Amino acid sequence: MPKSAVDLFMPGALTQDVAIVDCVLSDGTATSCYKVTVAGTPANHSVGPFCPRSTSATEEEVGIWLDGENLYDVTGQFILDLATIYNDDHWMLHDGQGKVRVTETQEAFEAAARPDVAKEYENYCVEGRMEWLEGGNPVTATVQIPVSPVREGIPTQARAPLGITLNGVRIDAAAPVDAILGAYTIAAFDDCGGHVNPFDGYHMHAATGCGEVGEVIAGETLPFAIAMDGHLIHSAQERDDLDACNGHTTEDYGYHYHARSPELNAVLTCYMGVIAQSAQRGPPRGGPPAGGPPQGAGPTPGGDHLEAAAPHDHR
Ligand SMILES: [Zn+2]
Ligand SMILES: [Zn+2]
Repeated sequence: MPKSAVDLFMPGALTQDVAIVDCVLSDGTATSCYKVTVAGTPANHSVGPFCPRSTSATEEEVGIWLDGENLYDVTGQFILDLATIYNDDHWMLHDGQGKVRVTETQEAFEAAARPDVAKEYENYCVEGRMEWLEGGNPVTATVQIPVSPVREGIPTQARAPLGITLNGVRIDAAAPVDAILGAYTIAAFDDCGGHVNPFDGYHMHAATGCGEVGEVIAGETLPFAIAMDGHLIHSAQERDDLDACNGHTTEDYGYHYHARSPELNAVLTCYMGVIAQSAQRGPPRGGPPAGGPPQGAGPTPGGDHLEAAAPHDHR
C-alpha cells in the first residue's frame, strides 16, 4: 500500500483526528491501533432517496433493494411486481390509487423498524430520515483498526461493523432480508447501498461504487473503505485470484479485499487479518444511546429494521 490507509479519508468523513492508541488484537497481541470516528453521514453524497411514492415512480426517484440473489431498483413497477417476484399474493404495498405505503413519520418508522413489526405495518416500504435520529444528528461510530494489519491466513467471520468507508459511514453485516420480507416490508437502500435505522443511523450494506478514492490503476478497482482488520476494501471486481474472503495481494495495494457483488447482501463475509478486541465486541446497547457515540458492534435490540432479530446482523 503506498501510504497509510487512514490518510485516504475524504474531508468531512471524520469528526475528529485519527489517534493512535494501545490495543489488543483478537489473537492476544498487544499493539497499536488507529482510533477512528466516522461522521455517520457520507461526505460526498446525500442520503437517499429510498422508497417510491407511487406505482409510477422511476429509477431516478428511488433507491434499491437486494435480497441475496438479485438487485432491484425500487421503482413503482417493482412495487407492482412484488407478489410475482416473491411468489406470494399477500404482497400489496400500494393502494387503489397507486400510492405506495411508506413510513412517513418517525412513529411509523420506529414501529416498522423493530423485530416485532405490528400487523398495521405489514406491506410497507420502510425508510428512515436523518432528522429522526437522536438530536437530529448523524450517529458517529468509533472503531479501532490495527496500524499494522496482521494477516493470519485463516478466515474469521466478519461482524458488524465490517469496516468504515472513506466517506465516513459504517459498513454493517448482511441485512436480514428473510425477516424483512417475512413482515412484507422492503427496507429500501439508497443507490449507494445505505439506509437509516434508529440506532446506527445511516449505515451501508452493499457496495455499489460510491465513495471511491484514488487514481485508477489498470486491472484494479478503487478502494472505498477500510475493513476492521486494517486492510482496504476495493469496489467489486470479478476475478479468479481472490481468496475465501475476497482478498488478494497486488504490488500497488498490498493485500486488500474486493467487495462482494451488491446483490449478495454483505460487503464481506470474513477477514484474513486480525481485528482489535474492542472492534470484536462492543458494550451491549439496550436502546437509543444515552450519551456519546455508540462504540463498536453492540447488538441493537429493536434496532435496524428487524436486523436485531437476525442472528447474523449488527453484532
Ligand atoms: Zn484488487
Ligand atoms: Zn441496515
